[in-house]
Amino acid sequence: MSNLLHGKTALILGVANKWSLAYAIGRSFAREGANLVITYQGERQKLTVDELAAELSPTARAIQCDVTKPEELAALVDALQPGPLHAVVHSIAFANREDLSRPFSETSRDGFLLALEVSAYSLVAVSKAMAPLMTAGGSIVTLTYLGAVRVIPNYNIMGVAKAALEASVRYLANDLGPANIRVNAISAGPVKTASARGIKDFSKVLDGVAAHAPLRRNTDPAEVADTAVFLASELGRGVTGNVVYVDAGFQIMGL
Ligand code: NAP
Repeated sequence: MSNLLHGKTALILGVANKWSLAYAIGRSFAREGANLVITYQGERQKLTVDELAAELSPTARAIQCDVTKPEELAALVDALQPGPLHAVVHSIAFANREDLSRPFSETSRDGFLLALEVSAYSLVAVSKAMAPLMTAGGSIVTLTYLGAVRVIPNYNIMGVAKAALEASVRYLANDLGPANIRVNAISAGPVKTASARGIKDFSKVLDGVAAHAPLRRNTDPAEVADTAVFLASELGRGVTGNVVYVDAGFQIMGL
């Protein structure tokens, strides 16, 4: 491709390892010439993510940011001063493992609130923190899944969190549109990552998609990443408040 993000600074939150969708997005953004800042949740990932940042580009920076800690979000803003920041990718979710295996009706109050805080509210907190740095306008992209709008076995509370995330995308798009900041979600087909492994019987979901999706295969993380490039670049300048499905077409199927 052709330097679609040349001269743009992009923040990508949620790199845990080389299988993370955030890392795939980092690779596509680096290929298109973006200056990259990537984040990881905690000290445990520091070494791995420092190495991944160096693989992405010699100038990529890796910074710790647990999105549930306002002081870490504030430190991230400081690290990005004076801006401008052009693109933000929010690739973060979490739910307790037991809430992704037992019946949804057994979800605990604490488990519900935790999943919603990390997986949905964090987009609002990140957007509020980063928008003042996006002085030339820009793009905020988050990652969602079909479980927001359909019942997927064992996705449970994460489906409810993704529904809140997708609604947040629409309200943020309306708030930030006057500053020419676009907000969209990519609904990715299932991909084997650390988070996905926490969902009971996840391999059956992969098998179902490969058998029934119009393209008769699963989603390649690079396809998700290239859609994020489109949304972050000038090519996506008319698109905001949307959920873009990158799922080999699976979401159109009835049976
Ligand atoms: P992943 O590699 O495990 O990424 C999830 C990231 O969220 C990890 O880096 C994780 O950090 C981070 N995270 C969790 N709690 C956090 C917190 N409090 N503060 C900061 N970061 C936190 O898995 P992934 O599949 O690439 O997930 C990325 C996004 O894509 C998620 O929103 C997920 O729901 C979405 N998605 C995934 C699929 C799929 O099938 N894989 C499909 C559609 C959408 P730690 O690992 O350190 O906890």
